[in-house]
Amino acid sequence: MAGPPWIATCCRHRNLFTVWNRNLFTVWNQEPVYSLESGTCLQPGIRNLFTAWNQEPVHSLEPEPVHSLESGTGLQPGIRNLFTVWIQEPVYSLESGTCSQSGTGSCSQSGIRNQFTAWNQEPVYSLESGTCLQPGIRNLFTVWNRNLFTVWIQEPVYSLESGTCLQPGIRNLFTAWNQNLFTVWNRNLFTVWNQEPVYSLESGTCLQSGIRNRFTAWNQEVEPARMLMVEENLMMTIIRTFVDHLRHRDPQGRFQFDRYTAQQAFKFGRVQSLIGDLKYVLISPPPEWCDQLRLKFLDGFDAFLDLLRCMQGMDPVVRQVGQHIEMEPEWEAAFTLQMKLTHIISMIQEWCCTDERVLIEAYKKCLSMLNQCQDGLSDGEQPLSLSLAGHSVDTFRYQVSQEKVSIHLPVCRLLAGLHVLLSRTEVASRFPEQLPLGELSPHLLIELPLRCLVLCAQVHAGMWRRNGFSLINQIYYYHNVKCRVEMFDKDVIMLQVGASMMDPNHFLMIVLSRFELFHIFSSVDIRKRYREANKDVAQQNTLIEEMLHLIVMVVGERYIPGIGQVEPLDEVRREILHQLSIRPMAHSELVKALPENGNRETGLERVIDSVASFKKPGVTGRGLYELRPEWNKHFNLYFHHYSRADQSKAEEAQRKLRRQNAEDTALPPPLPPLLCPLFGSLVNVLQCDVLLAVEGAVLQWAVEPSGGGWTESMLQRVLHLVGMALLEEQQQLENSSGDDDVTLRYSSKITRPGEAPSTSGSVLALLESLQNAPHLEVHKDMITWILKMVGSIKMMRERTSSSSSININQEPGLEETVRDKDKAERKRKAEMARLRREKIMAQMSEMQKHFINENKELFQQSMEELEASTSAAEHSPSSSELTCASQICVGPKRVDVADRRQLVTCILCQEEQEVRGLGRAMVLAAFTQRSTVLSKNRSRSFPDPEHHDPLFMHPDLSMGIHTASCGHIMHATCWQRYFEAVQQKEQRRQQRLRGHTSYDVENGEFLCPLCECLSNTVIPLLPHTPSPDRSVDHPSLEAWLKRTSQQIAVLNSTHRKQSHGAAQEVEPVVPDGFRVNFIPPTPFSSSVVEMMNTFSMSAYKVGLKVNPNEQDPRVPVLSWSSCAYTMQSIERLLMDEKKPLFGSLPCRQDDCLSSLTRFSSACWTSAPIRTVHSHFIRLLAVLVPDSQVEGTPCILNTDMFHLLVYSVLSYSSLHSLDQSGRSSVDSAHLHLLHVVTVAHLVQILLTFTIEELSMDQDGEESEEEQLTFQLYSSLREHLGSALPEVSSGWQLWRYVKVGILPFLRTTALFFHYLNSSVPPADLLGTGPGQWEALCSYLSLPSNLLLLYQSHRPLLEPLIYRWCCHPGVGQMLQGGGVLVRFPRESNRLINLPEDYSILINQASSFTCPRSGGDKSRAPTLCLVCGCMLCSQSYCCQTEVDGEDVGACTAHTFTCGAGVGLFLRVRESQVLFVAGKTKGCFYPPPYLDDYGETDQGLKRGNPLHLCSERYMKIERLWRQHGIAEVIGHAQEANQTLVAIDWQHL
Ligand SMILES: [Zn+2]
Ligand SMILES: [Zn+2]
Ligand SMILES: [Zn+2]
Ligand SMILES: [Zn+2]
Repeated sequence: MAGPPWIATCCRHRNLFTVWNRNLFTVWNQEPVYSLESGTCLQPGIRNLFTAWNQEPVHSLEPEPVHSLESGTGLQPGIRNLFTVWIQEPVYSLESGTCSQSGTGSCSQSGIRNQFTAWNQEPVYSLESGTCLQPGIRNLFTVWNRNLFTVWIQEPVYSLESGTCLQPGIRNLFTAWNQNLFTVWNRNLFTVWNQEPVYSLESGTCLQSGIRNRFTAWNQEVEPARMLMVEENLMMTIIRTFVDHLRHRDPQGRFQFDRYTAQQAFKFGRVQSLIGDLKYVLISPPPEWCDQLRLKFLDGFDAFLDLLRCMQGMDPVVRQVGQHIEMEPEWEAAFTLQMKLTHIISMIQEWCCTDERVLIEAYKKCLSMLNQCQDGLSDGEQPLSLSLAGHSVDTFRYQVSQEKVSIHLPVCRLLAGLHVLLSRTEVASRFPEQLPLGELSPHLLIELPLRCLVLCAQVHAGMWRRNGFSLINQIYYYHNVKCRVEMFDKDVIMLQVGASMMDPNHFLMIVLSRFELFHIFSSVDIRKRYREANKDVAQQNTLIEEMLHLIVMVVGERYIPGIGQVEPLDEVRREILHQLSIRPMAHSELVKALPENGNRETGLERVIDSVASFKKPGVTGRGLYELRPEWNKHFNLYFHHYSRADQSKAEEAQRKLRRQNAEDTALPPPLPPLLCPLFGSLVNVLQCDVLLAVEGAVLQWAVEPSGGGWTESMLQRVLHLVGMALLEEQQQLENSSGDDDVTLRYSSKITRPGEAPSTSGSVLALLESLQNAPHLEVHKDMITWILKMVGSIKMMRERTSSSSSININQEPGLEETVRDKDKAERKRKAEMARLRREKIMAQMSEMQKHFINENKELFQQSMEELEASTSAAEHSPSSSELTCASQICVGPKRVDVADRRQLVTCILCQEEQEVRGLGRAMVLAAFTQRSTVLSKNRSRSFPDPEHHDPLFMHPDLSMGIHTASCGHIMHATCWQRYFEAVQQKEQRRQQRLRGHTSYDVENGEFLCPLCECLSNTVIPLLPHTPSPDRSVDHPSLEAWLKRTSQQIAVLNSTHRKQSHGAAQEVEPVVPDGFRVNFIPPTPFSSSVVEMMNTFSMSAYKVGLKVNPNEQDPRVPVLSWSSCAYTMQSIERLLMDEKKPLFGSLPCRQDDCLSSLTRFSSACWTSAPIRTVHSHFIRLLAVLVPDSQVEGTPCILNTDMFHLLVYSVLSYSSLHSLDQSGRSSVDSAHLHLLHVVTVAHLVQILLTFTIEELSMDQDGEESEEEQLTFQLYSSLREHLGSALPEVSSGWQLWRYVKVGILPFLRTTALFFHYLNSSVPPADLLGTGPGQWEALCSYLSLPSNLLLLYQSHRPLLEPLIYRWCCHPGVGQMLQGGGVLVRFPRESNRLINLPEDYSILINQASSFTCPRSGGDKSRAPTLCLVCGCMLCSQSYCCQTEVDGEDVGACTAHTFTCGAGVGLFLRVRESQVLFVAGKTKGCFYPPPYLDDYGETDQGLKRGNPLHLCSERYMKIERLWRQHGIAEVIGHAQEANQTLVAIDWQHL
């Protein structure tokens, strides 16, 4: 389908907006707008601009600027701004990019100079009406609207000075401007300009006073416009100019757009902006009229009628038979024009409505114009005589299906509008003598609109298929919300006008004849229809349906003030209620469904709350309006703005609702509003003989099952019409004082047998016989409703006739009881049905139980499997072990899981497999990424990957490696096969088409085959750690340290010997059973080893951003690092979300941590053992300073958890050499934990600062406090005044306890996963006793200071040496970022509640690189709050040899490649990962209707929705951004094609 033209131009507008917004408005409009009036508060730059524009510049502008337009060289600074801003590339390149250069060259002709002069000088101001310009704001707008655009843009339409002298180049320039001007103006202007005002356009209520003024200025301050109209005849001038420019006419003088050349079409585009000027003139009707104004307005009206006459009947179509049209005819231009004029036509009617004399004159003029237009209509052929049901009428011989017909009838439609105004203002009844009502020929009035409506019906019936899409498009827009007010709606009104002035029988006969259905209903033998029409019967059925629908509309559509007795807002309310009858809708959907007026208002705000209740959105989705139930009774199935699809959706929804409420499913017509007197006789259509004959015929057909001869919709429409008639009659009866003024006698008419041609029984008899017809079950409720109505009307009539004084109030009461009875009966039935249902359910569940009993074994088994597959932690609470007094996860006393077998199922081959070290490797899909989420120092630059030593993590955690998994398990071989297939597919794809996929295969990325989660590696599954060897002794810390240092000495000496040859040295004592050259056998199969290498390499590659190198000694460290960092990040999340430490993680995270930890504990086996030894030696040197080890960081620069994890994991390598069988690795773990804990205590105390000394403790100091104080005092002895003086241990202990908690919690997680130990019950909840439970689980005293106290002689020298490390003194004296504990969790930045604050911030933000220029796409980093100049060349940076935009560049420093941004002008969240991946995400800002406004298109006030922001924050903290991007890109392939790196 050829798109409508405005869609095509839209893209261009977009560019311009940007240009416009960026340069122009930003510069002009922000402050300037505010300051125009006073002129005082303008910032220098802006003042220049304005000055340049408005005043002196004239002088400076004249010689130079014109010449230098292209070069820009000779411009003075201020002016240069002006011109630069205006004309720069964007403007030129907008249209065609290339032709601008040469074009501009020619623009510096003298004529143009004049033009420029005209611009800048007074002439502009005084040009037409210099005198009426007031200083201040009015200047701005007046100038802007009146002269500026007009003068600039068109060729001097207003005859300004020298229209002819514009050269092509300049014209381009102007064109570029102009085409978009109004759009900009209307749409974006407010957004960009005024910021807040945007929000208030609709309601106007929330405007701040200053801004309100501005709006007033714009909207109401039209005094100058009106003056121009009076003095300069502006309205007429504009319209005449406009008409003059559209030169191609057909012989009847109508526009012929299909004859336009490209250039003319282009010009047409430009000329259209005149309509915008006209809109400005007409934007608000005058509060008072003077004769002069009347005169000029009517002059203008004449000109307007001339314009409409050229449109009346344009683009006629003729039905194509036989063959398809060869070329789609041009239709867009005519519709564009119609659409542009729609508001103008409405405005003109509004003007007419405010003055009786003007209205009368306008009506006369319009009528005479219509007569002129229709002059030839009745000429020629003999009229056609029709007779039916005892009536006859003459009409034109004309068939829509064979002759020319046009959709464009603006003159008719304007007259229809004015006619309604006659009724609305009661001018028709007050001054009938002044109106040419006698001249009206209703036959003529309805003819063209009827043809047009028949055309639509025939198109629906498929009769115009060969006329192509252009016709379908036209019909679409004819009904579309943008056009229908002045097209479809007015055609229906014109039929109402005609029908109200004619004999209804005549009216209907003409309708039947135009629908080419007359013979069907006039024929004596109805069966004839079947015979003659067997080939087109479906078509004919559709036509009958459409015709019946039209009659429903003509009689029933009364919600226009003037037709029915309604208020303007009733119309809006009815639209809304019918929209909401389809389904609950969001505010923006409703706005889209309603027509806007010239001020872009729909009236929605004023009525919405009365019909709908607002349902707030959740964290996703949007707020919805739901129809209040009391409005359901106003639902009209044949609402004229429903499309067929809307209608059936609404019907379904309404029936469902009624069934839910246990009501019958009849959808009778709603009670219509009363008609205004001028249209009063419309109701007679309902009871006229022709309609009765039609109804009788359809009902008669319906007696037999359809077989294609009639349709349900046809019957439904007839029933609706019958219902309407009965309602009308009932209403008349209720409102009447006696029988006399009741003109409707429908109920009695339908009891009479049908007159000729129908030989059947009466309509009523037919209905009665249809009531129980089995093939009409669907309609039964409706027929019942009708029969009940007939009964109740009969009763009313009897009462009224028998006694006129009867109390009418009893009537409805009586009916009520009938209804109640009915309802009760229905309820009883519903109750019975419910009981039956329940009985069946009970039976079923009985059967189910039986089944389970019979298959008990099977069932048990599958339940167990289910249990086994979910996480151990989740199920552990139920295990009996929990009730044990102490659960311990580390050290020789640790308790591990009872069941050591792990059975898993491969998602690819569905085979079950036990996890064994020597078995087939099983792997878990995983994703590793660098992370700065926990970083406490974003300014730290990333180290050189080649030389970085990752063995010691700084406590600022500035960058870590995070690993996550979707929890899906595969055989390693199955995964390898899958990945190879992915690679091959990718290779083939790359050969075929270039571009990216959502994942980067070359970097090892793939999507989990089951859940499509982005993955880039796999973690091998390993068996549980062996149970502790309880046969060996647990050495004391001292003994263990001694033995370990002996072992280290032996290793060192051996290494030295091996590397330097045999240097003569004292041989260290070799401890018993320590075999230096022992090579431990690998406990893993080759496939497991291979998978271990796979993960190690991924962590290495991602963590260091280097190429894989299995020989690099840093390889195992990065795996350990990922394990430690991931745990720290999960612990923080659990803590901040106040979730228990154990048992609350989702399975996938649980599985990920457990396999990651077990893998990390084993990965030393695949590295050279000497490498791991040397890591351990260096790690231990932090705790037990060793002069032989170089480069040991001080304890202030070491993250203790990382240190613990690394040393525990690397210790195994040392332990493996100990073949004495007398030591246990668990003892070592416990000792390492104790020493690291003491080191952390010291570390925390070293960073202690005195808080406000408000509280001091009363009473005795506890033991902890005393010991803390002792430890602190000894630290102060070592370090002196570098530490603040403290008088008691109370504050210190409190500080330590809070500071060390995260360490203890992560450590508990670590040993839990390492040793598969069951957590204590207290840690599965968040209740009290956490501290004690934690310490006991970790085999630590709950008074941690006892660790220090009990080994004081051993630890005191260590502590002394820690303090003596030169780094400590340096740090304490402020040499670096001192991290305090607990590290505060990182959050996203705080956003303001009110979005306009952000807009203001962004609009004052200037590009940091281009010297104060406004940034085109100011973008806020949500992580660090940095504002960036995105999507712009000025701020591109090179990252790894590639130019990237500011956002992408920023992610590399701020987020290690991952970024979250808020694009302020777009109100859009941007996620970026790496250089090629990104997606948009709904912003956390909602309007009052619970909707986001991506692109700021609607412009309602936006407020922060903290739940949504929290959701984004959680995504970030969970490291889920890359995954979200992956899913978004998979779901929407167009996202893949975007060059995210340029943002
Ligand atoms: Zn498999
Ligand atoms: Zn998965
Ligand atoms: Zn920039
Ligand atoms: Zn940032």
